[in-house]
Amino acid sequence: MSDIAAACEWVAAAQRIVVLTGAGISTESGIPDFRGPRGVWTRNPAAEAQSTLQNYLADPQVRRAAWQARLESPAWSAQPNAGHLALVALERRGKLHALVTQNVDELHRIAGNSADRIIEVHGTMRRVMCWSCGRRTPMEEALARVRAGEPDPACSDCGGILKSDTISFGQALVPEVIERALAAAAEADLLLAVGTTLQVYPVAGAVPLAKEAGARIVIVNDQPTAFDDIADAVLGGPIGELLPRLCAA
Ligand SMILES: [Zn+2]
Repeated sequence: MSDIAAACEWVAAAQRIVVLTGAGISTESGIPDFRGPRGVWTRNPAAEAQSTLQNYLADPQVRRAAWQARLESPAWSAQPNAGHLALVALERRGKLHALVTQNVDELHRIAGNSADRIIEVHGTMRRVMCWSCGRRTPMEEALARVRAGEPDPACSDCGGILKSDTISFGQALVPEVIERALAAAAEADLLLAVGTTLQVYPVAGAVPLAKEAGARIVIVNDQPTAFDDIADAVLGGPIGELLPRLCAA
């Protein structure tokens, strides 16, 4: 039996699937993968250095550049693709235990997955957070202020620095969110990793954790991943074609 045929049977038999998604599932929606072969940071490492939390908080120029980049993000007009929709079908079949994503674009929620199944380990770009008072507000409100001429809008409550509610380089993950993701992985009977090279910890640790707990591991990614050797199936090819087959969407 081919890998895809075997993986389809495992998905059909599974009852508690944990899906782990990375940038690769959103590239077909027009959102670039920052770390991929043609990614923004791969081509321009200086841009990555600029994007640390410490630089952002210390330097108004970095914040002004960041607000301009946010205004121009292709994510605002991006729509969910066939890969996202396949995971909605998986939930409708009653098989989705949790959807852990490293993406900050909210395309899983927009596609139709339930918010209570989605675990966003790197936060969301559709909200801003004040670094002084912790208040969270819609990104759209902040972007409207930038468009209206404020190059670096401050918190309207306390005057603090606003930043997208995502995990930047140099910023700590939220422990409760990571614990929830790993706990879900340990309860899975099948872990499906999609569009991630599984190199970013602690989230990548969900894969060996699920394996040790007895889950099948299915990886869908065009490039080799850190856990191909412990996977039951590794599938390369367009995610928007493979996931609808796997999930019987
Ligand atoms: Zn504030």
